Amino acid sequence: MRNVGTTHEGREIMALRFTNPTPAASTNATLPKKQVYVQGGIHAREWISHATTQYIAYHLATSDDRKITTLLDEAEIVLVPVVNPDGYVYTWSGDRLWRKNRRADARGAFGVDLNRNYPSHWGEAGSSKFPYSETYMGPSAASEPEVQASMAVFNSLPRAVAALDLHAYSQLILRPVGWTRKYQLHEAQHAAVGDAMAKIIKNVHGKDYISEREIDLYPVSASATDWWYEQSRPLKNLLGDKDVVQAEGEAMKKKKHKKPLPPGHGTIFRPYSYTIELRPSSEWWGPGFVLDKREIIPTGEEILPAFLYFARTAIENVLTE
Ligand SMILES: [Zn+2]
Repeated sequence: MRNVGTTHEGREIMALRFTNPTPAASTNATLPKKQVYVQGGIHAREWISHATTQYIAYHLATSDDRKITTLLDEAEIVLVPVVNPDGYVYTWSGDRLWRKNRRADARGAFGVDLNRNYPSHWGEAGSSKFPYSETYMGPSAASEPEVQASMAVFNSLPRAVAALDLHAYSQLILRPVGWTRKYQLHEAQHAAVGDAMAKIIKNVHGKDYISEREIDLYPVSASATDWWYEQSRPLKNLLGDKDVVQAEGEAMKKKKHKKPLPPGHGTIFRPYSYTIELRPSSEWWGPGFVLDKREIIPTGEEILPAFLYFARTAIENVLTE
């Protein structure tokens, strides 16, 4: 566990890292471990997000389930359970339905919507220039210490093959992107993994989660999920020294053919990137953000296996281009 940043009000932002100290005999010990990043609590009032990151953390730390132990043999899971601790504290002490961080101006706190503050199409559709808006984008891209901290954690993971942001509510699995209707290169892979996660969730307690693109819900820009998906890295980050030489040779050969490379045959990779909106569903008469405490554990129970599938798929089928 380490401190990765300090908020406007001086609170620490913590990151947790999970892995097994030595790889199992069955894995290729010469390869560096791939990385999976998870964050929660970026929106203060979405308490089930904070609870579910802790549910995942608890099981990663304590479970004997082979799906978890083998994942930790082969990968590192890095988790920021509460991206926005100032806002979270304020939902206990001030306003239960506060969403943003606690950036203050001369007139008092107005807060920035941290999930509109990442440096990816900042200030475009689905965010507001007005400080009192729930979707205020902030004074500049990545102006907020919480966003800077979460970016620094992600940037410290050169082998991050997947990233997940937990929110509430509406029971949705959202894939990139939110700022344009144009289909992205990895739409097919993202859709397949999102649809599979929805099925896994449904099998646990029967809850329906809809798998769709962010833009199909509503326009969003400068979100964490879209920023992650833009972070391409060299494929050789994932390979051992010998493999790099071989891969570069193959890439050189392919270049001579001058055909566009299909996904899966290139020299860079991107992380699978999702936002999951947790319970409850979006019915207007439902509990909304104030979910009954009896739903905390069942939400964890349905999200954990979906998360394990997501992480396993990402380390085995890297999104290349
Ligand atoms: Zn949210």
